[in-house]
Amino acid sequence: MDDCLFCKIISGDIPADKVFENKRLLAFRDINPAAPTHILIIPKIHISTLNELEQKHNELVGELVRTASELAKQEGIAEAGYRTGFNCNEAGGQTVFHIHLHLMGGRTFGWPPG
Ligand code: AMP
Ligand code: ZN
Repeated sequence: MDDCLFCKIISGDIPADKVFENKRLLAFRDINPAAPTHILIIPKIHISTLNELEQKHNELVGELVRTASELAKQEGIAEAGYRTGFNCNEAGGQTVFHIHLHLMGGRTFGWPPG
């Protein structure tokens, strides 16, 4: 999608600190980290929000979540624990409208989030 920041990262038009990539997914470090480890995992196809997910995306979303758990191990935060989350639309705090799974770790998080 022409106007989408994360599509521009996928195409290479905007640089990112990539930590994982395959044919379907890309993971890169958040530019404004909210924790010592803060990685965003995104599908390479443009899906604006969780509201646009369809049954055909089930496998992709499964791989997205499993990649978060693999990256948590790679980052050394799996045993201590970590936070993952999708924000959806304005009330959910979404600012970039290309779905992304936040993987955050390296500190202790409160619950519920603000
Ligand atoms: P959200 O608020 O859930 O939509 O999360 C968007 C995230 O994207 C925020 O944590 C931003 O810090 C992050 N972000 C924005 N621009 C970039 C960028 N160019 N590279 C990496 N992360 C970014
Ligand atoms: Zn996009």
